[in-house]
Amino acid sequence: MCLFAWITHACAQTYPSNPSVTSTEVTNILVGNYTPSTYTASDIITDPAIIASGLLNDISRDTLTADLYALNSFANRNMFSDTTSTTTGIGAARRWIYNRFQLYSQANENRLRVAYLKFTYPPSAYTGCSAPGSNPTHYNVLAVLPGSQTTNKSVIVVEAHMDSRNVSNCDATGSAPGIGDNATGTALVMELARVMSKYTFRNTIVFSINTGEEQGLIGATALANYLKSKNVLIKTVNNNDVSGGVFCGHTSSAPSCPFYGNIDSLDLRIFSLGDVNSPNKQWARYVKLEYKEMLSSQVTVPTNINIMEPDDRTGRGGDHQAFTGIGYTAVRFTQANEDGNAASSSSGYKDRQHDLTDSLGRWNSKLGAYDSIYLNPDYLARNTLVNGNSLAMVALGPDTITMTGTLWTYNTIRVAFSSSYSPAPPAYRVAIRSATNDWDAVYTTTGQSPAVFSIPYGSNTTFYVSAAAMDASGIESQFSTEYVLSTSMQPLYVAPDTTRPEATSPDQYGIQLMPNRPNPFDESTMIAITSGTDAFADRAFLQFTTLDGRVLSRMPVHLQRGLNQIVFNHGYGASGIIICSLIIDGLPVQSTKMVFRGQ
Ligand SMILES: [Zn+2]
Repeated sequence: MCLFAWITHACAQTYPSNPSVTSTEVTNILVGNYTPSTYTASDIITDPAIIASGLLNDISRDTLTADLYALNSFANRNMFSDTTSTTTGIGAARRWIYNRFQLYSQANENRLRVAYLKFTYPPSAYTGCSAPGSNPTHYNVLAVLPGSQTTNKSVIVVEAHMDSRNVSNCDATGSAPGIGDNATGTALVMELARVMSKYTFRNTIVFSINTGEEQGLIGATALANYLKSKNVLIKTVNNNDVSGGVFCGHTSSAPSCPFYGNIDSLDLRIFSLGDVNSPNKQWARYVKLEYKEMLSSQVTVPTNINIMEPDDRTGRGGDHQAFTGIGYTAVRFTQANEDGNAASSSSGYKDRQHDLTDSLGRWNSKLGAYDSIYLNPDYLARNTLVNGNSLAMVALGPDTITMTGTLWTYNTIRVAFSSSYSPAPPAYRVAIRSATNDWDAVYTTTGQSPAVFSIPYGSNTTFYVSAAAMDASGIESQFSTEYVLSTSMQPLYVAPDTTRPEATSPDQYGIQLMPNRPNPFDESTMIAITSGTDAFADRAFLQFTTLDGRVLSRMPVHLQRGLNQIVFNHGYGASGIIICSLIIDGLPVQSTKMVFRGQ
């Protein structure tokens, strides 16, 4: 906010600034202000199994390879590089990407809508070097596949940065092919736009090719801030950066590959911010679950998805952080092995990142093509599949639910659910984990709430529980908040969204009126009530009646979380059966029979 500019004529401006989408139609789609039928496919395909198989069959290592060659041809894609040439520089690159998106749209009934996200970032604002280039206006390329509904306006973003860099981040003319970093991620996102555009998803999917990552996540920041300013809800963001290389270099940044020259085309890393109860980690687990359940039985070469603990490699970052920094869920997908760049500024640097050797590889004259020592297009295709499958499932799937009560008893958990939509989901999934970032088990309910599951842990084990809604086609929503439980703790009540929960199903809140002891009794007896919550403390009493309904007495109960013990003194009187009822909000919710022996 620059309140006093009119007085001082000097006011610090933050960049990137003035983000705008160059198409009104795309702007309206992003904010959910559109008519879904405008974008209806003539063949509506929403079956998750068909879509997963379709992605597996259609993602093409040849298309990906062709895109890498094309991106290589622009010579330098520094954000401050040439914008007017038709063959080299960032301008030619973004126009080529824009045109590819248009072609993919035409091949799919024009359902994919293409625009630029335009923003201002003057070279003078970049402190990494003095005035590289002169152009203050920059563009990300957006392609938007409108969702089939606008009830839930959340969008899903898949992004990669197209810009490249040389040893000097200010070098806007020297060769900077930026193939591993990040033509691979760019090709991946473009390929997903191509193969996903024939399907119909509930949520809008945004394919974004960003600029200015190397100067500090500038294009991604413009996009994230733009979406935030428009109050756009985002289910999740998949950032793809350094996605198709297999070679371990000398200076790969930790945590990374095992030793120089190691080749790994089987593992994929997902970096994300946070630990317990991190929505980013929850999303990474969802990606892995969907791959396992939708694809692992079909693929010929399976991918091992590694959920990494840190937000990114040590000392390094990426475009996902522009989103997590303002509260959105986002993760980074990166190849397992990396060929640099822990110390790229050192004189002995031998790796292939952030310099002119980040190229298509070594020319093999026998093959008539580049070899795949450094880059492996089949690996890139497999990583594209992992990505696209997760996006497809979350874009098809239902809205997230919340758990309203999680109670642990001995070796079982009881979980209750609350969903914002009606009718309630046909089923739920409950995920638990303990020692690692991976879920140990993901249970499926039949829609009953509360649901009860055995847990595979011994005593004194801390574990984490979360839940998702499942729709009729078996697709999960994103998983809820994670709750911490322990096999040694009292039942835990998880507060619902309402501050005054209804007591119509007290079971759901762990409320249990236990049999009194002793029973039968002579003069007095102990009544125990467990509760998972303090919410009913001032709303409960015990009522004692005879079998014919005569009220003997009432006793307020300050019902607290945990075990509540109440002594009932009958005193002297005739023997008989007494009904003890727990009354909450004036309604009897549970009762027991007590036998008074009399005196
Ligand atoms: Zn990068």
